Amino acid sequence: MSEFISRLSDRLRVLFEHRETSSHAAQHGLDRTFTNRVLESQPLSVFIPERFGGRGQHVQECLSMLEACSYESLPLSLVMGINGALFLQPLSKYGLESVQAEVFPRFLHENALGGLMITEPGFGSDALQMQTSAEKTAAGYHIRGTKHWGGLTGHADYWLLTARGMTPKGDLERNISFFAWDRSFGGIDVEEYYDSLGLHMIPYGLNRIDALLPEERKLEPATTGVRMLLDLLHRSRLQFPGMAMGYLRRLLDEAVAHCKDRTVGGRPLFSYDQVQQRLARMQAAFTACSGMCAFSSHAAAVDNDCSGDALPANAIKTVVTDMMQSAAQSLLQLVGAKGYRLDHIAGSSVIDSRPFQIFEGSNDILYQQISEAVLKGMGRVRETNLYRYLADLKLTSRVADYLKTPLSFTLETDLPQRKTVELGKALGRIVSMDMVLQLGDQGFRKELIDNCIAVMKSDVEAILHRFASMTDTQVVEDYREGAVWQDTLQT
Ligand SMILES: Cc1cc2nc3c(=O)[nH]c(=O)nc-3n(C[C@H](O)[C@H](O)[C@H](O)COP(=O)(O)OP(=O)(O)OC[C@H]3O[C@@H](n4cnc5c(N)ncnc54)[C@H](O)[C@@H]3O)c2cc1C
Repeated sequence: MSEFISRLSDRLRVLFEHRETSSHAAQHGLDRTFTNRVLESQPLSVFIPERFGGRGQHVQECLSMLEACSYESLPLSLVMGINGALFLQPLSKYGLESVQAEVFPRFLHENALGGLMITEPGFGSDALQMQTSAEKTAAGYHIRGTKHWGGLTGHADYWLLTARGMTPKGDLERNISFFAWDRSFGGIDVEEYYDSLGLHMIPYGLNRIDALLPEERKLEPATTGVRMLLDLLHRSRLQFPGMAMGYLRRLLDEAVAHCKDRTVGGRPLFSYDQVQQRLARMQAAFTACSGMCAFSSHAAAVDNDCSGDALPANAIKTVVTDMMQSAAQSLLQLVGAKGYRLDHIAGSSVIDSRPFQIFEGSNDILYQQISEAVLKGMGRVRETNLYRYLADLKLTSRVADYLKTPLSFTLETDLPQRKTVELGKALGRIVSMDMVLQLGDQGFRKELIDNCIAVMKSDVEAILHRFASMTDTQVVEDYREGAVWQDTLQT
């Protein structure tokens, strides 16, 4: 670990030790004094190019910084992730040099914070339909619209605003544009702060935008705005394991410590088989996430065009966020009632990790997209056998033989959506297992690799079994008619 990261970890440990957690736990909003103390050690410098005084955007360091933060606090790590992947990296790649020269020093020396606004009340998953418009005028771009759920609402000094240009007729263009806003422009009003379920450190809310930005604040895509959006989102998803890494390690450490300490029925929890099963799964998540971090250290480089990396990016994002939620649920189960409090890490983890399965692409939708990417690839090479296709695919060739039997079947192309989602769950885990095997090849502890592969293999087999036996059951509308259980007792 670099000296920079170990100094940051030490500082965070001290800061969080001295924070009054109980009184802050249920309190909403950004504690600026506390955040400034964290920012004094310049964690965001890892996202800033060297020529502007940053540490040079080495992804390995970005992930290690996120890991150091998430070991202490998942919300803090998300604040760093938002600033890095959703503001600083895109600005460094697509912003004008003069704008970068103006903005980056403020992050390094004045504790500035930034975020990204894509989502609108009417358009979340289908963000490409957004209604926020950017009208080009003689004075610059006039941006008008309503955005919500932008992390750091009301507190960010900078926003990347997304909007659609306007045709000469006044209609919205299909293409998406990005603009770098800062406070000096004004024109963003917070209409409401949301009482969010978790992640209390991060303010969210509803923003009305009516702002005029100079032309140079528009980001310049290499090709189209939609490709720029995909490049940004895929790079961000590839870096989720940074935020997950410290968090999963912390939950595992907490769980092991608790289970060794707590005795039930005269023996430590640690000695129970069911407890071991939960702990082993939590440890498998730690190992899988390590494999993803190693993979992303190269894949997410800012110079790479990640717009075509839907398969690895979506696999990593979905699988690691499912693992985060499942590890939190396990910790709470193991700690029991003592953990069911907002000021206990087990309780807060359950609500803090949950939205990771929703934002930046709802997992249900991303799993479907994973399947679609594989089905499209199979169509291209005219392969119908899933095992044979995955054995040839770079992202899965190392692992395919471990699952040869369950994968050796002819995959139909016209699957119902629920089956594409289920298949995507299996494929996401298969891609992740490949990363774990690569990690093992590079010298990671073998025992952990073997355990992780055993756990994930069994998960994939169970998912594929479910996939094969899925029904097409539909919800019964007006279901209360003839469905009152008390009535059945009167005959
Ligand atoms: C804590 C948190 C932080 C966030 N941070 C940001 C941020 O910083 N910036 C920002 O711009 N946005 C942010 N968001 C918004 C987030 O990106 C959106 O919530 C997300 O894109 C989903 O949009 P939606 O909530 O409108 O849900 P919808 O689009 O209404 O979807 C809801 C659900 O419907 C289902 N669904 C939708 N479409 C389909 C389909 N085609 N097939 C099957 N099922 C489907 C899925 O289960 C999905 O989860 C944040 C949200 C949360 C909760």
